[in-house]
Amino acid sequence: MTRTEKLLAELIALPSVNPAFVPPPPAASARQARSSHPFAGEKRVADFLASFAARAGLDVEFQKVAPGRSNVIARLLPPGKIRQTILLAPHLDTVGAGDSQFVPRRKNGRLYGRGACDTKGSVAAMLTALCELANAKSRPRETEIVFAGLVDEENAQIGSRALVRSSAFRRLGQPAATTDRLKAGLQTAVLAIVGEPTRLQVVTAHKGSLWLQLETRGRAAHGATPQLGQNAIYEMARIVAALETDYAARLRKRRHPLLGTATVNVGTISGGAQPNIVPDGCAITIDRRTLPGETEAGVRREIAALLRARKLSARISSKKLAPCPPLETSPKLPLVRHFLRSTGQTRPAGVDFFCDAAVLSAGSISSVVFGPGDIAQAHTADEWISLAVLEHGKNLLLNFMKSLP
Ligand SMILES: [Zn+2]
Repeated sequence: MTRTEKLLAELIALPSVNPAFVPPPPAASARQARSSHPFAGEKRVADFLASFAARAGLDVEFQKVAPGRSNVIARLLPPGKIRQTILLAPHLDTVGAGDSQFVPRRKNGRLYGRGACDTKGSVAAMLTALCELANAKSRPRETEIVFAGLVDEENAQIGSRALVRSSAFRRLGQPAATTDRLKAGLQTAVLAIVGEPTRLQVVTAHKGSLWLQLETRGRAAHGATPQLGQNAIYEMARIVAALETDYAARLRKRRHPLLGTATVNVGTISGGAQPNIVPDGCAITIDRRTLPGETEAGVRREIAALLRARKLSARISSKKLAPCPPLETSPKLPLVRHFLRSTGQTRPAGVDFFCDAAVLSAGSISSVVFGPGDIAQAHTADEWISLAVLEHGKNLLLNFMKSLP
């Protein structure tokens, strides 16, 4: 068994379900009760990784994000002046699962279990690579490498949001502002490699996600005399049809070279009270996946204009508390080019799913996404990862880090 596989099996056996996804106990009063669920929270995994990294000689600290929820940070400092920083940033939480998924199972060259590919596989590959680097003869002389195991990626990304706000990491976003580096006249650079299952492709772009609510208002009347009322569901039905046809067609015309087209999905609908009342309200929520360059304000304006042109009207509001912007990192940045070359790739890839990379990027930390495993197996009832790919991922990361100055 390789070190990477052993670490991954240990991580799968430590449940770290995002507290947002465990069932609340009966009559629970929200968050506190949910976090007491035996599978909830990242603490077990964070504590385990902290002692694992400390044993390998890394400098370890916790960054408290919420009660009982901390990012775990492990640093390998270079012997010389820090000229650049590589941030290895996978997340520690998973979506929910049945009990049997917390027992790692090896079969036909695969390891099964919750988090195997999303994204404890990346955690294991990244931290094993870093620990091996710490004990290798040749190490970067001027590159600092930081492993940051982040909480809450699967829900509201409070881990990565806290990381970019923290003073220790803000300097990564503004390297020129660090006075001793300025004095030394050093050029600094930073690249975050966010761990997610990308089939070991270097991903420089992903879509953003926007949840909007649209509400129509009508006028209630007796079901026997519908002509006296105004039916909010009929109005909404026309809006839904317009989104499915005209709006979706318009989105299909917008193409990003790595991401394809933007999309829209009507995900929920509710309205009306009972059959014999003309409904005076109806609401839908939509999930709009955005391309780089699209903003929430712009999307709301374009939907409002679409409705106006059809003489339809709805109140549009935001349903997501935290913004999830698209990611677009230039593949021409020197560290991105170096990483592509080091992994033998000529061209970066794009993915549909949103992740912490966009949050770090919005905090001015250039980010790419990279990790073993396939998103097709993420969040499934038989989540697995290929052990050969896992090991290959660890080696690609190790070779990349060894090649840094
Ligand atoms: Zn993930």
